[in-house]
Amino acid sequence: MIMNQRIKNIIIVGGGTAGWMTAAALSKTIGCRSCKITLVESEQIGTVGVGEATLPLINLFNKNVLGLDENEFVRETNATFKLGIEFADWRKVGHSYFHPFGHIGVDMDGISFMHYWLRWYKAGGGLDFSRFNAETEAARSLKFMRTTNEPGPKVMPDIYYAFHFDASLYAAYLRRYAEKLGVSRIEGMIESVNQHPDNGYISSLVLKNGETIEGDFFIDCSGFKGILIEQVYQAGYYDWSHWLPVNRAAAVPCESAGELLPFTRSTARESGWQWRIPLQHRIGNGYVFCDQYISEDEAADKLLSRLDGRALDKPKSLRFVTGVRKKAG
Ligand SMILES: Cc1cc2nc3c(=O)[nH]c(=O)nc-3n(C[C@H](O)[C@H](O)[C@H](O)COP(=O)(O)OP(=O)(O)OC[C@H]3O[C@@H](n4cnc5c(N)ncnc54)[C@H](O)[C@@H]3O)c2cc1C
Repeated sequence: MIMNQRIKNIIIVGGGTAGWMTAAALSKTIGCRSCKITLVESEQIGTVGVGEATLPLINLFNKNVLGLDENEFVRETNATFKLGIEFADWRKVGHSYFHPFGHIGVDMDGISFMHYWLRWYKAGGGLDFSRFNAETEAARSLKFMRTTNEPGPKVMPDIYYAFHFDASLYAAYLRRYAEKLGVSRIEGMIESVNQHPDNGYISSLVLKNGETIEGDFFIDCSGFKGILIEQVYQAGYYDWSHWLPVNRAAAVPCESAGELLPFTRSTARESGWQWRIPLQHRIGNGYVFCDQYISEDEAADKLLSRLDGRALDKPKSLRFVTGVRKKAG
């Protein structure tokens, strides 16, 4: 970008969830009239394909920023409702803990509910802390409802929820949304990046077919590759492997089985943990592990042997380093 110059041409690099979320948000907020917005992606590379479980902040983005109709979004992405996360077998095999979204109990007179509960519990009160959370109770009974906005006294607390959805369908849905608002899409593999010789800012991308794409503001949504942020600007990376010692995942979808659970399940395993994410049409599963303790083949076999339904594909292998980029932009 050239400083002190109005941005007229934004280029988004990558068309996974990050790319199309960015395109949708920019086309909605700044619009495509005075500023051209283009997204470049390569079908040959594809997207990471995981990223199906979300947190309640997704509502802020979908509803408040984009103004999406929630029922339509649920239909288009095969989404299900998520009230929290069950952590199974983490403390010891057989033990489970539910992390709910939403509040536990009601704070009174400026004092957190936890203090009331502690005093009551010490005095012999028998109910577990989690029993005072609506999301936990609903999840245990496999129930879900949205907060009602009916007039009159409130008998239920607000319900905090997120979604499980098919990440590829979400990207495709947001692509339709963004293209309707004027975002252009270019299909092509980026081979090199040009920079202004005077200030080092990115000036254009060069595709494999020789096409040059110029812009004055570039956003890197190229996933692990970090085509701009790492390959060009070498943002650096804080490696968190010593805190989160996992570096691989095997992921596989399976057929739906049993009741639809309104929560994500995370189960501790011998060399990591396994996720279970129920969608309308299938269950997403993955074994996150460390290759120092288990081989890729063994992890894939263990995952396949612990599915609730018939596997719908071969396990996909993912490699990553836990951590965060040193600079975001
Ligand atoms: C094991 C695992 C589990 C995860 N689970 C969750 C989860 O449950 N919930 C969650 O929110 N997140 C999860 N994540 C994180 C989430 O998957 C990612 O943050 C997100 O999906 C990444 O999307 P993205 O758009 O950044 O990248 P990607 O999906 O990788 O998309 C990259 C895009 O860049 C394009 N691209 C790359 N190189 C080029 C090139 N040279 N030329 C042109 N285009 C190019 C590709 O075509 C693609 O369109 C998980 C991640 C991992 C590894």
